[in-house]
Amino acid sequence: MTYFVYENWTRDRARIHRAQCSHCNNGQGTQPSDSGRNCKWHGPIEDRDVAFLLAAKLRREDTKACGTCSP
Ligand SMILES: [Zn+2]
Repeated sequence: MTYFVYENWTRDRARIHRAQCSHCNNGQGTQPSDSGRNCKWHGPIEDRDVAFLLAAKLRREDTKACGTCSP
C-alpha cells in the first residue's frame, strides 16, 4: 500500500491519503492548483505509520486521515 500526505499551509491543513484515492490521484491531486504555491504532496510513502508520523510532524492545525479513502 502506498500513501501520500497532502499539506496546505494556506489552510493549515494536512491529510493522509492512499495513493489510489480520487482526491490524491497518486500525488497529483484533483486540480492544477494542487501542485501550486499553497500546498505540497509528500510521498509516495510505503508505510502507513510513516505517513501518519510525517503528517503529525507537519504540525498543521487541521491534521487527519482522508474521510474518502480511510488510510
Ligand atoms: Zn483520500
